[in-house]
Amino acid sequence: MTLAATSTPKDAADVRALLDAVTDPEIPVLTIGDLGILRDVRVDDAGAVTVVITPTYTGCPAMSAIELAIRDRLLEAGCEAVRVETVLSPAWTTDWMSAEGRRKLEAYGIAPPADGAGEGRGALFAADPTVRCPHCGSQETEKVSEFGSTACKALYRCRACAEPFDYFKCI
Ligand SMILES: [Zn+2]
Repeated sequence: MTLAATSTPKDAADVRALLDAVTDPEIPVLTIGDLGILRDVRVDDAGAVTVVITPTYTGCPAMSAIELAIRDRLLEAGCEAVRVETVLSPAWTTDWMSAEGRRKLEAYGIAPPADGAGEGRGALFAADPTVRCPHCGSQETEKVSEFGSTACKALYRCRACAEPFDYFKCI
């Protein structure tokens, strides 16, 4: 993507289009829109931009990187004033992840959060959901560890193809 092709964003839709280039540093195939952490975009009469985000996990180290990436992206595009606002309530849930985001996640080799398993914040302590292997599609999988490459993922292994994989936990 070349910056020369971008014109200064004039409204919230322009800003959202620019933010499609901002991805999760841990899962670079997912945009902040796919993840559902981009909650709102406002542009006031003076052209000042406010971007509202809700972090996936409180204290997730990726969030400050995402905040910086949002700011950089918009300043590069010619926005003069950019404010990134973090809203913690209501808390983010994996239910906010888009269908497109789930598809990309699986293609990337990470099992997406089980459908509807995000209901209730106690889901982390609920029985383990059926997790489909992102490599071969088998549901014959087992949890190896509660924590995978990052705290928001669990490590699984597929009994069918023997491949280990990360499962994006539901919250
Ligand atoms: Zn498999």
